[in-house]
Amino acid sequence: MATIPEKSLKNFTNNTFLVFSCVLFLIIALSTITVYLISARQINLSFIEQQLSVASETMRLRLATTVDSELALVLKMADTPVIRQYFMAPSDQLLKSQADAEFAIYKKHFNSEILYWINDVDKILYSTGNAPYILNPDDPDSYWYSLTLYETEIYNFNINYNPDLEEIHLWVNVPVFVTVETSKKPIGMLGTGVNLTDFSNFIASSYREFDKNITPYMFNKYNEITSAVDYELVQSKVHLDEHLGKTGKELIRVAHELSGGESRSFIYDKKIYLVNSIQAMEWYLTVSYPEPGLLSLNNAMNIVFFSMLILILFLIIIINAFVARSENAMAKQNLQLLEANKKAESASRAKSDFLAKMSHEIRTPMNAITGMAELLLRGELSNEARGYARDIKQAGNNLVSLINDILDLSKIEAGKLEIVPVKYMLSSLINDTVNIIRTRLKEKPIRFFTNIDGNIPNSLIGDEVRIRQILINLLSNAAKYTEKGHIGLTITVDKQDDKQVLLRIDVSDTGKGIKAEHQAILFDEFVRVDKNQGIEGTGLGLPITRRLCAAMDGKINMESEYGKGSVFTVIIPQGIESKEPLAVVVEPEKKKVLVYESRVIYAKSMCWSLENMKVPYTMVTNQKEFVSSLYREEWFYVFSGYGLYKKIKPLMEKDDAVFCGGKRPHLALMVEWGTEAYISNVRFVSIPVQSLSIANTLNGKADSYNYFDSSVSSGVIRHTYPNARLLLVDDIPTNLKVAEGLLSPYNAKIDTCLSGAEAIELVKQNKYDLIFMDHMMPEMDGIEATAAIRKLETMNVVSGNGGKQIPIISLTANAVVGMREMFIENGFNDFLSKPIDVSKLNEILDRWIPGEKKEIGSKNCGPESISPLPATRSPLPVIPNVDTAKGIAMLRGKLDTYMKVLSMFCKDVDERLPQLRIMPEAEALPAFIIQVHSLKSMTASIGAQEVSSYAAGLEAAGKAADMTFIREHLPDFTVQLAELGKNIRAAISV
Ligand code: ADP
Repeated sequence: MATIPEKSLKNFTNNTFLVFSCVLFLIIALSTITVYLISARQINLSFIEQQLSVASETMRLRLATTVDSELALVLKMADTPVIRQYFMAPSDQLLKSQADAEFAIYKKHFNSEILYWINDVDKILYSTGNAPYILNPDDPDSYWYSLTLYETEIYNFNINYNPDLEEIHLWVNVPVFVTVETSKKPIGMLGTGVNLTDFSNFIASSYREFDKNITPYMFNKYNEITSAVDYELVQSKVHLDEHLGKTGKELIRVAHELSGGESRSFIYDKKIYLVNSIQAMEWYLTVSYPEPGLLSLNNAMNIVFFSMLILILFLIIIINAFVARSENAMAKQNLQLLEANKKAESASRAKSDFLAKMSHEIRTPMNAITGMAELLLRGELSNEARGYARDIKQAGNNLVSLINDILDLSKIEAGKLEIVPVKYMLSSLINDTVNIIRTRLKEKPIRFFTNIDGNIPNSLIGDEVRIRQILINLLSNAAKYTEKGHIGLTITVDKQDDKQVLLRIDVSDTGKGIKAEHQAILFDEFVRVDKNQGIEGTGLGLPITRRLCAAMDGKINMESEYGKGSVFTVIIPQGIESKEPLAVVVEPEKKKVLVYESRVIYAKSMCWSLENMKVPYTMVTNQKEFVSSLYREEWFYVFSGYGLYKKIKPLMEKDDAVFCGGKRPHLALMVEWGTEAYISNVRFVSIPVQSLSIANTLNGKADSYNYFDSSVSSGVIRHTYPNARLLLVDDIPTNLKVAEGLLSPYNAKIDTCLSGAEAIELVKQNKYDLIFMDHMMPEMDGIEATAAIRKLETMNVVSGNGGKQIPIISLTANAVVGMREMFIENGFNDFLSKPIDVSKLNEILDRWIPGEKKEIGSKNCGPESISPLPATRSPLPVIPNVDTAKGIAMLRGKLDTYMKVLSMFCKDVDERLPQLRIMPEAEALPAFIIQVHSLKSMTASIGAQEVSSYAAGLEAAGKAADMTFIREHLPDFTVQLAELGKNIRAAISV
């Protein structure tokens, strides 16, 4: 539902954000620098302009006003006819006295005391300070006066510095013209000198207060610097072109001309100049300032720092905004998701509830429908009605299995499929599955083989129920969609480490196969391809299987060729509980096997297992080859098909001497499941032959599926236990009777009881030397009862056993590898598999009953004691479907005990049948499993192998919660069981 952002999308977002940040940084840095530069220049320029205007204003007020009034007076004097006349005739005494009188009038109006007049021959006619004299042309001053006289048209200002006085004077000079003269040639010059020393100092000091970089100076039209902060410039009468160079001077002139009185700026020689003219006087005020450079180091650092700061701030803002936005968006999305999730959950809950209710509602009447149909089918019916009844039953079964599948699927979809890892025995799981499948194959000419890698650890951790479901789904499909040929189950190890094994499960068949175009859609829901007419199914098995695989971190693949067959492969990890391998042959190199089987597929499968367990073997498929091989080499075992027994019997029964190594090889026959067989000194292994069965056979061990093992049973009783007291606990009276029978030769006192609770009571009252406790019992099972007894022991409630624990031996029909450890972990001391192997029983009693209670015994009660074969002994009851010989052999050849067991069995069956006629609901499955489990061992112990196998199939189906199987086979099973009871009763009452 919720889409998690793709990794690539994340990268893309991250990269975009990074690029975006970098670009942003550059933009901000550049714009900051630009802004800084522009504003720095502008700040400087405007600052300089400000200085300039201050200077101009000062000048105007402080200088111009003085100069203006002085000028006006000089002009006025130059205009008096008397003075003018006197210029022309300086020796005229009258004129002189008239001129002096007039001059005196004006003089009192002048600020300065210095006044002079100079005639055109450079003779100073009047001077306030000195007597009149002729200007000396070598004197720079007099030269300058002359120059001024001839060049000045109206008036002239000059500032000069008097080093003797250390004063600066402004000289205001006005030419005097003859009134009538048209050439305007001056006849003399009048002038005054204004002392500007103070003024100049003032300007200098006032500028000094400004920025130190500012250099103001004033210069006149002769480009002499007349006032400056740098007083040197004034003192040494530096000319502007000396100071600025010609270009600089020219620039000032141009700036001045362009300015028309306004201030003008220009940059010259890395300085900014501002020029302002003081119009009336043709003086210029200039301010220079170092041109603001592009960047000084300090500034650069500042800018970088500044930019970084801005950037960081900016980034923080952006990130904050971003985070806030995404948090907002996330919070919003989360809310929406939560909301959606809630809705989906409640919808799915509603759906699951609905499905659960509906399935219950539908299943109950469906049970009635299929049950009734079954009853109809058992009665007298016309062919037509039988057909209808069969159809009803078939359709009903289909409907129920569809409901089961939908329930499963809806659970998976609602995420309610919980993978529950438990400790389980792989061999047990395979056995159960194989039992179910071979029942389904009964009527089809299909060979079912298994290749199970013996090296797989047997004790695994995983969801046993779901693995079983996967196996059953795939094998059922193989069985359903294959009409002839074979189907195979191969389980191998893909990878393994200390903790995990990657199982590879291949289910192969030679069935109809799947067209290439259909292969891609098979794992979709409700897809059934290729018109599976007459084959029941829902199209949900494969999708469920695929999801189960995925939920367990596994995967499923399929290869198929249309018309030839298919292989479905599941690869799935499982935890390892213990590394003990599933099947191991002890000293395999010493156990050479000759495999003779004309059904090549079985022969090959057998050889696969032998090779897997490193057992040397030769495979022959015809009699000729067999004969030539049999005597050629020394064989430890011959494995052959049961159907070939007649042919090989004479060959196998020859004297030991005929055989290589001087010893006849052992013989094991492969029998189809459910086939009744008993031959002395022959081992039977049922098809599909599993590696565990082969390993047990070659190791000389009992096999839980081969109830009579004549080759290994040694019934020599070494001890009897007349002083020992034993307790037998089993919920099935038949089993109790069997066990009692087996124990009777040991002369011990035996108590029996039918439940765990009773056992606890008995343990409180009596002192037992050994307890045989059944594992699976209703209400309180053997494990719980043992735990309770152990608790009583710690509380000292149990009657005195010298403070020691009472040895408790588990009796179980689930004799698979790893069981012993499980029981020991649960407080048992050992375990004994049912049906009871007498040699094992011997061992157990010997080991666990205290030495002081043992007495030497020599009673031989093994199979040897019952040979020759029971068939040669008489009278033996003949009961259809019961191998009475085998049954008697199981009871050490005691016919009377066997007869008692048989009558007890009939009673037992009568009690159980009504319960079995009720189809179990899912919740009643545990009780059902116990029920059929008990029947499995009960029937096996009397020699009713076929019914026992049937019960085993139902037990496996119960464990796998395979209701379809149970529904299909339970009615038939009850019929067979009832029939068996009837036959036994008839036989024993004879
Ligand atoms: P179902 O068997 O109930 O129809 P499945 O999901 O198990 O549903 O299988 C879907 C379809 O795939 C089947 O209907 C059948 O057409 C095809 N199929 C599955 N297994 C096999 C097989 N072993 N051989 C041929 N076809 C198969």
